[in-house]
Amino acid sequence: MADQKIPYKIYLEEHEMPTSWYNVRADMKNKPAPLVNPGTHKPMTAEELGGVFCAELVQQEMDNDTPYIEIPEEIRNFYKMYRPSPLVRAYCLEEKLQTPAKIYYKFEGNNTSGSHKLNSAIAQAYYAKKQGLKGVTTETGAGQWGTALSMACSYLDLDCKVYMVKVSYEQKPFRREVMRTYGACVTPSPSDTTEVGRKILAEHPGTTGSLGCAISEAVEVAVSTPGYRYVLGSVLNQVLLHQSVIGLETKTAMDKYGIKPDIIIGCAGGGSNLGGLISPFMGEKLRGEADYRIIAVEPASCPSLTRGVFAYDFCDTGMVCPLAKMYTLGSDFIPAPNHAGGLRYHGMSPVLSQLYADGLMEAVSVPQTKVFEAAEQFARVEGILPAPESSHAIRVAIDEALKCKQTGEEKTILFGLTGTGYFDMVAYEKFHEGKMDDYVPTDEELQAYFDKLPKMD
Ligand SMILES: *Cc1c(COP(=O)(O)O)cnc(C)c1O
Repeated sequence: MADQKIPYKIYLEEHEMPTSWYNVRADMKNKPAPLVNPGTHKPMTAEELGGVFCAELVQQEMDNDTPYIEIPEEIRNFYKMYRPSPLVRAYCLEEKLQTPAKIYYKFEGNNTSGSHKLNSAIAQAYYAKKQGLKGVTTETGAGQWGTALSMACSYLDLDCKVYMVKVSYEQKPFRREVMRTYGACVTPSPSDTTEVGRKILAEHPGTTGSLGCAISEAVEVAVSTPGYRYVLGSVLNQVLLHQSVIGLETKTAMDKYGIKPDIIIGCAGGGSNLGGLISPFMGEKLRGEADYRIIAVEPASCPSLTRGVFAYDFCDTGMVCPLAKMYTLGSDFIPAPNHAGGLRYHGMSPVLSQLYADGLMEAVSVPQTKVFEAAEQFARVEGILPAPESSHAIRVAIDEALKCKQTGEEKTILFGLTGTGYFDMVAYEKFHEGKMDDYVPTDEELQAYFDKLPKMD
């Protein structure tokens, strides 16, 4: 009966939106390991990081103690253009699955960039502007991050240079044009505009690029161009902090209706949406106030948590970035060419890596054809055409709901629906034509990457 009172969509009022981000590190007993200097293997100082990142973001990156960090009013106002995002009760999916489980998803695709990435893009652009910078550089893979950043930069009148993984640049011309519409300068990576790009091109002629390689180029341009800094769309502590807005809104909406999730599920590329969604719930878990089952879902073809090693590694291919301690597949790991579902980064957020190492969350990997089956099933009953990345979470949410059908348990399942998939129709096409396979790397292949991890004393 109580259920009938819960609407299909729970929207918050503007005044119910969070005014501070929540920093889950403050409640972690084992803090994430610091970034270290690749030359000295000593923790990066604020001064060293300040050459790459904006000053205020460096503070946020290194702050393991302050639980709440105020969201500046300008950022809150920008958020109001597309937030609060709805928390949806997936009544139609439940009905279709004939499950007693109650399924909720937090939908972050209601903005032009089509994903949650705008939540951090606006924050990072804001601090760059506040510092008086001329512009920022970044990399983008499939293009969501580059799109989000170019939107944020055009809003604040900042220059935006995007290094886009070459294969995506060629295969996703529409994303590229969206970025250019917002005034960004988009270069396919590897390119001959940077030293590291020229080196990678010489060593691997004909390469179609990777995220790690595009990061190296973007960092090089940032540190060598006065008035520029580098920004990153995932992995970093500061990005998880900004993305906590997702979890905080979700928590407020659920509390309003007395809903408590039993299982929280999110897809995991670099870990930012999952980290943001779970933050306030994980905080309660860390403080011993509540317990939740938390599941990270990753592609079987890029399984950093489930098959990677927890070690210091480079964040980029060119080895110009600091080292991060994280679950990693090795900095030159690139998923097989047939991999179509995104989430291709070789490493995982140090915060999530530590939480996973401490047994506070679980991880599963899923093959991509199963992911696209779930995507299609979801699209047909819930209406939204999900991004392939988000569909990893849908897959596991459906699997958990089907388990409830077996056992009769009325569990409450919450998952993050991070974005829409309109620009991913080539991947959907591959799936529909039966041209998608489920290549999974062998242990030997992965070992060859692990052997090349940096040796730390
Ligand atoms: C970038 C992206 C992801 C993965 O990134 P995380 O940092 O792991 O959240 C997931 N879904 C969508 C739609 C994305 O654009």
